[in-house]
Amino acid sequence: MKPPGLRAAAVALVLLIAGACVAFVVHRVAAPDIPPVVLRGANARALVSTSLRARVERLVTDRYAPINARGGNPRLVALTFDDGPYPVETPLLLDELAELHVPATFFLIGNDTMAFPGLAQRIEAEGHEIANHTLTHPANFDALAPPAVTEQLRDGAAMLERYVHDPAIRTMMRPPHGRYTLKTLETAQRDGYDVILWNDDPGDWRSVSPERILSHMESYATAPEIVLLHSGRLNTIDALPRIVARFRAAGYSFVTVGRLLHMVPASELLHPAKLRV
Ligand SMILES: [Zn+2]
Repeated sequence: MKPPGLRAAAVALVLLIAGACVAFVVHRVAAPDIPPVVLRGANARALVSTSLRARVERLVTDRYAPINARGGNPRLVALTFDDGPYPVETPLLLDELAELHVPATFFLIGNDTMAFPGLAQRIEAEGHEIANHTLTHPANFDALAPPAVTEQLRDGAAMLERYVHDPAIRTMMRPPHGRYTLKTLETAQRDGYDVILWNDDPGDWRSVSPERILSHMESYATAPEIVLLHSGRLNTIDALPRIVARFRAAGYSFVTVGRLLHMVPASELLHPAKLRV
């Protein structure tokens, strides 16, 4: 017979594993697909609904439609870089983008821009797009009440506009940490913003090797596509030449998010073709 202590430990272990399995399944079932964009005129509720019907609809249309069944599915990719600007990484990133002749979209933080205004001006001068990533990058953005969301967007835009003049500062935003609720989405929409999320998140916000970033982007490529990347990551800069070469070899062109939204109907971003690059 087992000693009671051992039996208790075994029971505890089984309970722990069972709990983790339940948590995993619940997470998988409850997690809504992230819509890559929630445009000003869109029905945000339908896009982020966790109702069974909405999820079935999204699964069917997103996962199983044959490639190119819905129109052009142009091979356009918009690289987006969140946060900063930062004094070391952002200039290196800009050097690399210039070398590669790739335009990108930068979601800048108002307070970081105040710290390094010359970098924001360089981003603009080199033809990239600048959009709003709030004034202070609050960690709990999804918990903010509508007036606080509005204040973050209004004050973030005002700070950016002291130094740069891209109209996208007033029309395109990305929530800090990609965290949102229906309420924060609708508030941003009411404030005149398209909420820009992504089709692919290669995870460069954690410590991921350049090879992992590239292989993730190859595996999860869609046409068209918005990619979430970060301004302060050396591994991302390291991966860029290979990413650009790979996507160009597969027939992709690099564009800003604004250009992408101009060229492609939102429906194609919401239901892109899945491709292997
Ligand atoms: Zn951020």
